[in-house]
Amino acid sequence: MSEEQDNNPTADATGNGERMTFQAEVNQLLQLMIHSLYSNPEIFLRELVSNGSDALDKLRFEAVSNDKLLTEDSELRIVVECDQEAGTVTVRDNGIGMNREDVVANIGTIAKSGTKQFLESLTGDQKTDAKLIGQFGVGFYSAFVVADRVTLTSRKAGDPSDAGVVWESDAEGGYTLASRDVADRGTEVVLHLKEDMKEYAGSWRLKSIIKKYSDHITFPIMMWSEPAPPAPAEDGEEEPAAEAPVLEQVNAASALWTRPKSKITDEEYAEFYKQVCNDYEDPLVWAHNRVEGTQEYTSLLYVPKKAPFDLYDANRDARGIKLFVQRVFIMDEAEKLMPRYLRFVRGLVDSNDLPLNVSREILQNNRVIEAIRSASVKRVLGMLEKLAADKPDEYKDFWNEFGACLKEAPGEDFANREQVAKLYRFDSTHTGTEGEMVSLDDYIARMKPGQDKIYYITADNYRAAANSPHLEVFRDKGIEVLLMHDRVDEWGMSYLNEYEGKSFVSVAKGDLDLDAVEGDETDKQAREEREAKAKEAGPLIERMSTVLKDDTSEVRASTRLTTSPACVVLGEQDMALHMQQLMKQAGHEMPSSKPALEINPAHPILELLDKEVDEDRFAEWSRLLLDQALLAEGGQLDDGAGFVKRMNEMFIALHAG
Ligand code: ADP
Repeated sequence: MSEEQDNNPTADATGNGERMTFQAEVNQLLQLMIHSLYSNPEIFLRELVSNGSDALDKLRFEAVSNDKLLTEDSELRIVVECDQEAGTVTVRDNGIGMNREDVVANIGTIAKSGTKQFLESLTGDQKTDAKLIGQFGVGFYSAFVVADRVTLTSRKAGDPSDAGVVWESDAEGGYTLASRDVADRGTEVVLHLKEDMKEYAGSWRLKSIIKKYSDHITFPIMMWSEPAPPAPAEDGEEEPAAEAPVLEQVNAASALWTRPKSKITDEEYAEFYKQVCNDYEDPLVWAHNRVEGTQEYTSLLYVPKKAPFDLYDANRDARGIKLFVQRVFIMDEAEKLMPRYLRFVRGLVDSNDLPLNVSREILQNNRVIEAIRSASVKRVLGMLEKLAADKPDEYKDFWNEFGACLKEAPGEDFANREQVAKLYRFDSTHTGTEGEMVSLDDYIARMKPGQDKIYYITADNYRAAANSPHLEVFRDKGIEVLLMHDRVDEWGMSYLNEYEGKSFVSVAKGDLDLDAVEGDETDKQAREEREAKAKEAGPLIERMSTVLKDDTSEVRASTRLTTSPACVVLGEQDMALHMQQLMKQAGHEMPSSKPALEINPAHPILELLDKEVDEDRFAEWSRLLLDQALLAEGGQLDDGAGFVKRMNEMFIALHAG
């Protein structure tokens, strides 16, 4: 670090100051934050007050099992002070505090998983990045948006006074750490404001920021009734008795969720959400409920507008519900309160029935929790149903952000699978445009007379689904097919057997029986021709079966194809080829079930093939048909070079006439 830091007063004063460098990610994040947040610097106070409030929550929780922690100072509060002359703002709490290791771990490093990916996802555009940083959680470092030097002094609850620690940094690559006697438990953060940020050293300004962002913080936030705290009278003579400043509470400090719904404005709900759930944006929707009777609890559940960057990270299991017991904060991410497929829901549950010393272990198989969870799931699903009905455009945005999560539901929450499925949206042959999605109810309303199944196809992407040869006969008959192309679809659909009594059928698997469906057939003559050809195709099928017997379960005449020469069809229980491919790439052993090859005997290629007398050539061309059908299905060829060779030979043969 620079020479100035050798003269750092903290280090000098204690004689054991130690200079440390920031973890590389901290450095990067710090610089980004300073530049991205300059348009909204006042949020630094919200962040520091929120850290103070968390620290008080933690202390109160620890004190449940160790009441000594509270005895030395039981009036939990946050104090905000400013000194206009010195250009400083101080935020102090008497919460849990930190020892030296805590400070190094919490303030010098970023422990959040995915930090690296997050940093890589930043664009360099300040507006976009500011939003992303907001989503990531700005936290303590936002202090450096307004300050060029920050001093944090802390002592952990229960530690002796000489176990205090002082951390100081100017955000230029590192910080100093020193041990010091600290009289009071908790943490004090002093911001030495930058020249152009001195306005924040005004008490009126600070009060209005606290009102705006931190009014609902449940601990009192205190400020001096005058700009500065009273200077201790030097000679004990001229004490202006009447005017002595006093500490006054600035925030309302009522837990928002305990107030009646009718007394809370939308703005208050939104502000509370941003505070408590650390989001930059307003929430999309929320549900606030108080339950009384055999169980007593309040829940306030929010659906965010945007998915966090790691929502689909397989290792992420964090759920966004905080658990309170009788207003006392117990834990973040109480995973037992929401199923995994609703991990995007944020908010809190405050129970009157659980013990204060509840732990994660107690929450396992707890009847109170089970009941709250199942009611909360219903609430979230109901809230989404209402959104879909009342505001389809907003619902569409929701679906694009979180739809793939909901599709995990059938495998996880069998009981609610149909209610969740009501919320599904899929691309469809009916709209024919990617992104113009339909619901299962829409689909059912459009079913043809005699149709009792919901037809779908899964593929790697929209185009692969929309262009699949399996859709031909459905197009011909005007029967709608859902085009599914999320990775989770294949898996999700294996658990969702039916909806509203209609079973789901993959058009790419098993036998198709569309005879009972009265489609609006466009070309009856063509169909009759195809059927007649199929009847005569016995000998061709036999020849092909012989040459392809190692790679197919069977060769048969197709009822699916109208314009393509051939397609492969999987067994009803088989995994789609594009998924098999993915699983193989991920190192899973896949049982190799052979697909059936369906041919369209009315197609000119098959007519030509039927006439081929050279048996070697017949075998090669049959192979070529199978290979292209596999490719169209998203499969991969074991012998790509062989395929190319056959293609080339066919070109030459064509040319040779
Ligand atoms: P976040 O609060 O989102 O975790 P921060 O960067 O604001 O991120 O803080 C990092 C960590 O530092 C916190 O998780 C907490 O452990 C610790 N910390 C910050 N401020 C305080 C405080 N006032 N008292 C005790 N610990 C604190």
